[in-house]
Amino acid sequence: PDELKLLIRTVPDFPNAGIQFRDITTLIGNGRGLAATVQMLAEAAQAAGAAGIAGMEARGFIFGAAVAVQLELPFIPIRKPGKLPIATIGVDYALEYGSDRLEIDPDAIEEGDNVVIVDDLIATGGTAEAAAKLLRMAGANVEQSLFVIDLPDLGGARLLEDNGVSVFSIMQFE
Ligand code: 5GP
Repeated sequence: PDELKLLIRTVPDFPNAGIQFRDITTLIGNGRGLAATVQMLAEAAQAAGAAGIAGMEARGFIFGAAVAVQLELPFIPIRKPGKLPIATIGVDYALEYGSDRLEIDPDAIEEGDNVVIVDDLIATGGTAEAAAKLLRMAGANVEQSLFVIDLPDLGGARLLEDNGVSVFSIMQFE
């Protein structure tokens, strides 16, 4: 994890002044770093008894799909609004400024499937909380979430644990 942390690029003042953006482009641009990251996430997903992997558009697709391939499990894309060509189910959630929405295919999940959430980073936890809610609406059993990066000061992990979802992260930034 310490070596992987060195592969994260920190960009000051993106997307807004005062924000330190943790950029995973440099991590996935390193083949061994990407493989080691996916391996750690896959081990955690397997330990949680995953029957399916759900990833949030767009960076959650990169890690989530790789984990699903490694474990030969289905991948469930959690999409931004208006992207799926079918009738979807969705959840609206609040952002710091305004709101956003996540959507999935209502037929993507078998009732009671143990689905593990994967994303690149958890900050406030709003996105992952919405993803868990949506997966549960579709019939999934959601007990575990996996992130490359946690920003613990923002309280997202605590929010998810309060919602009955355990949080695993490879590295943390203050
Ligand atoms: P949250 O909903 O937990 O506040 O924010 C997490 C979501 O925003 C994730 O989908 C993540 O991709 C994105 N995000 C927020 N801040 C950062 C950041 O500093 N770096 C990266 N890579 N993603 C971020």
